[in-house]
Amino acid sequence: MTIILDGKALAKKIKAELKTHIEELQPKIGRPPGLAVLMVGDNPASAAYVRNKERSCKKIGMASFGKHFPAQTSQKELTQVIQQLNEDERVDGILVQLPLPEHLDSVALLHTIHPDKDADGLHPINLGHLVRGEEGLQSCTPAGVMRLLEEYNIELQGKNAVIIGRSILVGKPLALMLLAKNATVTIAHSHTVDLPSVTGNADIVVAAVGKPNLLTKGMVKENAIVVDVGINRVVDEETEKASLVGDVDFENVKEIAEFITPVPGGVGPMTVAMLLYNTVKSYAKKV
Ligand code: NAD
Repeated sequence: MTIILDGKALAKKIKAELKTHIEELQPKIGRPPGLAVLMVGDNPASAAYVRNKERSCKKIGMASFGKHFPAQTSQKELTQVIQQLNEDERVDGILVQLPLPEHLDSVALLHTIHPDKDADGLHPINLGHLVRGEEGLQSCTPAGVMRLLEEYNIELQGKNAVIIGRSILVGKPLALMLLAKNATVTIAHSHTVDLPSVTGNADIVVAAVGKPNLLTKGMVKENAIVVDVGINRVVDEETEKASLVGDVDFENVKEIAEFITPVPGGVGPMTVAMLLYNTVKSYAKKV
């Protein structure tokens, strides 16, 4: 029997726990936690993500300092906004919604965020803590994957884990997190020769590429644990209806996997939960 790793349910549980934690901390700190999500331009997918994050903030009693800037906003202006938010006592977390319009240097902006307010865990200081195995704010999507595996008591020690995708947002930090749990980690990417032979030996496969049906049944070992990070918008040719799918051929792979995440309802909601978790973690330090 394949077990579906229910990220939606776990994210709901984490948010309920964070809400209670905030209620306990607020009398001591004298204000709610605050998260500032900065969005530039009108990318519809980003706008939907930002709305979702702001809605989640409200639900758990977190103040939202979201700012939406026109596409032509300058690097200097955004740098100044981040610097102000770094100084703002009401703000515990700052997030720049990616991707940004082409004229902006997103890495320089991420470096401007104070490491203690780096809700997305992408500042080099926090990534450095991760490399060294030290305490710090961790990148939300990989941290969400780890939390989901933990919830289902999935043993990682000694397991062969293959991550497809080597981005700084997902693949690289996830590899370090799995290593810290004593898994044997392989990262595959666009130059990997013979991907099926790499994934075919994996006890745990994580797909983080952005290509529908990249991981098919023939590439996965029986009883493997399959985590789908991908989010792809596809349009049905007949009905012209759009839907979201991952990188895994879910219907077929689920026939042989022991555990598998769905899309939507798997890693996506966990990412938002970990963003809130990071913000509350920074807030709790104020006690
Ligand atoms: P990215 O484009 O930065 O990285 C993609 C990676 O895939 C690269 O490392 C590339 O080498 C690799 N790749 C490309 N083609 C390949 C192939 N044919 N075989 C093997 N590897 C290949 O993307 P990203 O930011 O890491 O995001 C990856 C996917 O995850 C996207 O679909 C994105 O939307 C999704 N995502 C989801 C969440 C979430 O919350 N669920 C969060 C972040 C990203």
